[in-house]
Amino acid sequence: MASVVVVGGGVAGLTCAWRLRRAGHDVEVLEREPVAGGRMRSERVTTPRGDFVVDRGAQFVASGYRNMQRVVDALGLRARLHPVANTSNAILRDGMLHAGDYDSLVAFARSRLLSTGAKLRLPRLLFELARHRRRLDPYHPERAAGIDRETLARGLARIVGEEAAEYLFVPAFSSTFDADPEDLSSAFALLSARFVLSGFQLQAFDGGIGLLTQTLAEQVPVRTGCEVTAIETNADGARLTIRSSRHSGQSGAGDREDRVLADAVVVALPGSLVSGVVASLTPEEKSFFARVRYVRGMVCFLMTERAPETLPWYGVAFPRREDVGLYGLAVDHHKPRVAPAGAGLLNAALTATAAERLRDAPDAAVVAHVIEALAHTPVGRLDPIATAVHRWDPMLPLFYAGYLPQLAAFLARRERSPRLAFAGDYLIGPYTEMALTSGMRAATEIARAVAG
Ligand SMILES: Cc1cc2nc3c(=O)[nH]c(=O)nc-3n(C[C@H](O)[C@H](O)[C@H](O)COP(=O)(O)OP(=O)(O)OC[C@H]3O[C@@H](n4cnc5c(N)ncnc54)[C@H](O)[C@@H]3O)c2cc1C
Repeated sequence: MASVVVVGGGVAGLTCAWRLRRAGHDVEVLEREPVAGGRMRSERVTTPRGDFVVDRGAQFVASGYRNMQRVVDALGLRARLHPVANTSNAILRDGMLHAGDYDSLVAFARSRLLSTGAKLRLPRLLFELARHRRRLDPYHPERAAGIDRETLARGLARIVGEEAAEYLFVPAFSSTFDADPEDLSSAFALLSARFVLSGFQLQAFDGGIGLLTQTLAEQVPVRTGCEVTAIETNADGARLTIRSSRHSGQSGAGDREDRVLADAVVVALPGSLVSGVVASLTPEEKSFFARVRYVRGMVCFLMTERAPETLPWYGVAFPRREDVGLYGLAVDHHKPRVAPAGAGLLNAALTATAAERLRDAPDAAVVAHVIEALAHTPVGRLDPIATAVHRWDPMLPLFYAGYLPQLAAFLARRERSPRLAFAGDYLIGPYTEMALTSGMRAATEIARAVAG
């Protein structure tokens, strides 16, 4: 059986390696950080009040994540995956929080969030979804390339009008994808709406989302603290240059450079990092990777002595007209066993503007921004007993207007680097499910390449 190296130990790379191993291949994952999991892992924060589990990156999975559900069963984790206890949402308008629910247009129509005129335009979104239904397969976003012509801002203005856009859809999309509607594609938003409307009960793993990646990492050989700096492939196999450090993730004195040879390699890195590592890309591949973009952003966790009574929701979204400086707030203590009984665990995503302004500021300044922002909303002033600030770069792939045709051309390319496959969320969608699915597909592709 072939030897395959998987570069990157996020959910895409780990799933790929796990599949290849089950098919009998000799596989190894090389991961730069001291722990595998990438943007899907959990860490424990110990406080006098007890232990909190902070999910780094992904916060929840969903019942509609069909490939992940199969992996969960195969790993024996079914009993440890639970629905999130409370999945209701609220949106701020004119200083008041309005309960809403992102998975039902009927519920939106009943809420007091929007004027009657704005509500009457909502069915137009359903019409738009129906009109394009043949092209809207969330697992194959490239099929929507032909309708990927306008930004979300323009699409929403055309379909539902300005009021519903600003107070309903933009808050929902911005707080999910950490980007402004001018930077997102309208076709991508339709794909996401289709994905959510086809069944999306939120779920969480007992004790943290990292359970999935941790379990996968226990079943495949993973070399952590190992940064891949160069990859070359040809028809005979792959050659990688790696830098290992005892102080993982930081280069410096004591680093060791080595070469690794394999029959094939899977690159499971965020797409924006690929061309910096793979020297032997074809011109078409190079041109695609030059167009892959990721947003960068910041998330701040607040742990409180008691769960705030002002937050009976799981998610709170802040329209930009309310000028809060946050896209949204997730109330994590509704997830199973992530906070001591009765304690509060929240995370707030900063807007792109606020995150840029605070990029080089100390963590304390980021925490102060979040506390001050929330103090001006009905959430009120919080007094955390512990905090954590995560600065993400890259954070999430940006499905900007015009990206899907680039993706379609890349997936259909004739000239492919030999013995090389790619996996990662930028190939299907900015969710753990799509990263996992890309890992499965890469495993199938590379198994064929080494067999032929
Ligand atoms: C804040 C945030 C919230 C999110 N919320 C959700 C959510 O609620 N639900 C959901 O489904 N999805 C969510 N997502 C998206 C989801 O986390 C990602 O789509 C998914 O985890 C990406 O997996 P991946 O394997 O493609 O990439 P990654 O997880 O980024 O894996 C890539 C790995 O490569 C490693 N690496 C990088 N460079 C090198 C190198 N040179 N050599 C070796 N290793 C290297 C990295 O350390 C990393 O471990 C969220 C993401 C973020 C950031």
